[in-house]
Amino acid sequence: MIEMQDIWKTYADGTHALRGVSVCIDRNEFVYLVGPSGAGKSTFMKLIYREEVPTKGQISVNGFNIGKLKARKIPYVRRNIGVIFQDFRLLPKLTVYDNVAFAMEVIEAPRRIMKKRVMEVLDLVGLKHKHSSLPSQLSGGEQQRVSIARAIVNNPSVIVADEPTGNLDPDTSLDIMNLLEEINFRGTTIVMATHNKEIVNSMRKRVIAIENGNIVRDEARGEYGYEA
Ligand code: ADP
Ligand code: ADP
Repeated sequence: MIEMQDIWKTYADGTHALRGVSVCIDRNEFVYLVGPSGAGKSTFMKLIYREEVPTKGQISVNGFNIGKLKARKIPYVRRNIGVIFQDFRLLPKLTVYDNVAFAMEVIEAPRRIMKKRVMEVLDLVGLKHKHSSLPSQLSGGEQQRVSIARAIVNNPSVIVADEPTGNLDPDTSLDIMNLLEEINFRGTTIVMATHNKEIVNSMRKRVIAIENGNIVRDEARGEYGYEA
């Protein structure tokens, strides 16, 4: 479902962030991306959600060659991919409900299904009762749950998560991981960059290690593999 063939990404200043990456990620996989800072993990994920385009090589998501996508078709790709960030990126002046509903409004989902669907995903992440709170009234773990609800509300086939537990304490991180596992179990592919050694070693999923813009390791039941 995600396929990269000899992907190079060189930024405008000449930095080679990815240098010939080829990889296949199947439907329903759970993949950890590991590697030192600056290795190219975020770039790898930005190519998947079409925040960046490759300098060279082909990337397809769900059979669409997204590196060559016409601008007007980008929304079709984006609605199929949910993104989760380390710093949550919620809209501070909107309630929990509106933060999640906003993702449906962006894709012009029919209003009549919106309320039911938003409450359904808030229930799934355990925050239905906080639907009228503002992000600032929530703990970090709760804010990340809202961002997960926002990521899944449009039923994406892929979720891309860039260090989703990076700002959370160990117990809260485990809660978030359990939630992501459940979402994966329900049929969503997950690609997650992380520096969390304990989580990677305890979950035993596919691990792709990137260093200096190259994949240096790809194991079906891998370990974190770094002393950090
Ligand atoms: P990671 O997520 O593993 O820390 P990144 O993909 O963020 O790695 O970065 C890979 C390399 O590309 C780094 O050298 C980084 O400084 C560089 N880089 C990332 N984004 C840009 C950009 N917009 N312009 C120039 N260089 C960038
Ligand atoms: P249509 O009735 O024209 O098929 P769609 O909404 O299904 O309308 O799609 C419009 C165009 O957007 C399609 O021709 C297809 O090329 C593109 N498209 C649809 N879904 C996706 C997707 N998931 N990723 C990339 N492009 C897509």
